[in-house]
Amino acid sequence: MRITPVERDAASAALGCPMWELGPCAGCGQLMRRYGRYAAMYCRVCRAVLNGP
Ligand SMILES: [Zn+2]
Repeated sequence: MRITPVERDAASAALGCPMWELGPCAGCGQLMRRYGRYAAMYCRVCRAVLNGP
């Protein structure tokens, strides 16, 4: 998956985190907060799927 600087910039603004905390979700590959203080392996959507209904 390729992420352009523009997309990365937009994602960091949307997620409210610095760009260096962005990374791909381990499940679906979308940009999410992957590093730093509030880091997680999976995005909220994938966590919901993993946790079940
Ligand atoms: Zn995901």
